[in-house]
Amino acid sequence: MISLREAWEIEKLRQSARLLAAAFHEVEKHIAPGVPTETLDTLADEAIRSGGGLPAFKGYNGFPASVCTSLNAVVVHGIPGKEELKPGDILSLDIGVLLDGYFSDAAKTYAIGAVDETKKRLMETTRKALHRGIKKCREGMRLSDISHAIQATAEADHFSVVRALVGHGIGTALHEEPQIPNYGAPGQGPKLQAGMVLAIEPMINAGTHSVEILKDGWTVVTRDREPSAHFEHTVLVTQGKPEILTMGIEERQPE
Ligand code: MG
Repeated sequence: MISLREAWEIEKLRQSARLLAAAFHEVEKHIAPGVPTETLDTLADEAIRSGGGLPAFKGYNGFPASVCTSLNAVVVHGIPGKEELKPGDILSLDIGVLLDGYFSDAAKTYAIGAVDETKKRLMETTRKALHRGIKKCREGMRLSDISHAIQATAEADHFSVVRALVGHGIGTALHEEPQIPNYGAPGQGPKLQAGMVLAIEPMINAGTHSVEILKDGWTVVTRDREPSAHFEHTVLVTQGKPEILTMGIEERQPE
């Protein structure tokens, strides 16, 4: 069952997404070489709580932090710690918010200083793949139309799509039905309906699509240790143009 949200619920999702964007903006000011990833975690946690929300990832299945900080070959679920950002890194920041019963989830990959051409292209392609997928979030499309659009975009640029992790429905739980693979043939799966809310999140690798989990039980890395990028939005399916609830993370707020 994929939930269809009513107008009052969509308003709550918008508020949750707004707080999430505010947390991103607070953290972004501090993304720079020499900054330990645990500092970003603290900043996000404070921003979310001061806005009346809860960090959705903290304690989720035992996850120890409020954000995921995934550097370079880390695909997702990197645990913040003492490791410092350095020039040439790419950092994926994934944050979830629970506000007044409603969840929002988004991710973005940042370049730390100057990064090599592969990383730059990988980030651009992953962001482009996300938005090609989002374009399919219209009533009447099939779920796998999203998947296919993402895969086609990534592979056209000679990158690979992670299979082992997927996007998801979101609303009164962080992860709801349906699962949304980032690959597959078009025209399959349930028909999309206005009121569905989906977290679309391509994870794209420079090398092999194959991943493994480190001994900490969380950190997902590429098997060949080539870099990976991750962008995510929480999106409302409509009859027309999809509403990207977390669009606010794409623009820096004026300080
Ligand atoms: Mg997600």
